[in-house]
Amino acid sequence: MPIDFEFTEEQQMFRDTIRDFGENEIAPLVEEAEKNEKFPKHIFPKLGEMGFLGISFPEEYGGVGLDKITECIFAEEMGRINAGIAMCVNAHTSLSCVPVYKFGTDAQKEKYLIPGVEGKVIGALGLTEPDAGSDARNIRCTAVKKDGRYILNGVKTWITNGTMAEFVIVAAYTDKTKKGTGISLFIVDADAPGFTEKNKIHKLGHRSADTAELVFENCEVPEENLLVGEGGFNGAMATLLGARITHAAKSVGLSQAAFEFALQYSKEREAFGKQISKFQAISFKLAEMAVKIESARLLVYKAAWHYGRDDKEALKTASMAKLYAADVVQWVATEAVQVLGGYGYGVEFPVERYYRDAKLASITEGTSEIQHVVIARELGI
Ligand SMILES: Cc1cc2nc3c(=O)[nH]c(=O)nc-3n(C[C@H](O)[C@H](O)[C@H](O)COP(=O)(O)OP(=O)(O)OC[C@H]3O[C@@H](n4cnc5c(N)ncnc54)[C@H](O)[C@@H]3O)c2cc1C
Repeated sequence: MPIDFEFTEEQQMFRDTIRDFGENEIAPLVEEAEKNEKFPKHIFPKLGEMGFLGISFPEEYGGVGLDKITECIFAEEMGRINAGIAMCVNAHTSLSCVPVYKFGTDAQKEKYLIPGVEGKVIGALGLTEPDAGSDARNIRCTAVKKDGRYILNGVKTWITNGTMAEFVIVAAYTDKTKKGTGISLFIVDADAPGFTEKNKIHKLGHRSADTAELVFENCEVPEENLLVGEGGFNGAMATLLGARITHAAKSVGLSQAAFEFALQYSKEREAFGKQISKFQAISFKLAEMAVKIESARLLVYKAAWHYGRDDKEALKTASMAKLYAADVVQWVATEAVQVLGGYGYGVEFPVERYYRDAKLASITEGTSEIQHVVIARELGI
């Protein structure tokens, strides 16, 4: 089969549509959202109406039934507009709606997936705890079955969409004696009795994103809200590798934004009587940025292609894309600050925000160290 590096006409049209939407409907909200550290929640129904929340879900759930590549186009364009907003949308679709679609009962799909795709309800995934991040099997949250309900106790932290989500998929031990395999996943409604605290977390970057610590004290979860039972946790986590790829696409978009700004600035700023872009030190930096971004982009879309085929390269390439895009975005954002000199360090231009936002790329959706672990394992080491 020949290699074809061109997007289809449909994918190109989709990119134009999302770019247009991003620049007209989202970009004007960014400054305030970043300043007030408040996600503009009203964009969710709009994203739903445009079909952006259901890109790869089948039509029967309100989706548009397109592919992972199109989803990456969306994530890349969103990352180019604002990383914080992009992260919340990705957490909703890839981390919350996807598990309901893959593992949910018909009733759960009806209640959470369909309105989720419409943007009428927002989802979150609660896996990380104060004492367990990369080592998810070490979580302490428990759920005990009692009188047709589960009683959930524990604390989750760093949860994207945490304060604003209508439902949170929560990982908890239903059998503590079975390390790892005794974990189940529950759909917890935001108004469930015993869901006592949603504490906002302030961050270095991604300030427009909603991030929270969540506290469950004898939280009552109806039996029918069990999403994945014991033994299914590892498999369920493995399916989340799709989120890793869209996360990497978001990093490419953020890199692109930093690059575009630095390029434009370098053509306008003068020093020693000429545009700074004419200095080889600056032009080579910009050329290097373009090369690295393009390489990361190729890896992301290759990973999306493998994911779509569900083949044996999917896991390895997803981790490669996530790892490399995280390295690239941090390097590009740092160099973009350098191209702007003092203005790169000030808040007048968005480059300092890109620099702060870039750091997260190597932490969420599996740290860069964990991506190395996965890649090495896939190489048979
Ligand atoms: C803004 C933000 C949003 C987030 N959103 C969510 C969310 O929506 N839902 C959710 O559940 N979580 C979320 N997280 C949590 C995120 O997934 C974790 O921070 C991440 O998995 C790392 O876990 P940790 O912070 O506990 O670090 P640790 O696991 O304690 O790691 C600390 C350091 O040790 C390294 N390390 C750990 N184990 C190994 C190993 N085996 N080999 C080599 N190095 C290792 C790590 O790479 C890291 O450098 C979010 C985090 C942030 C900052």
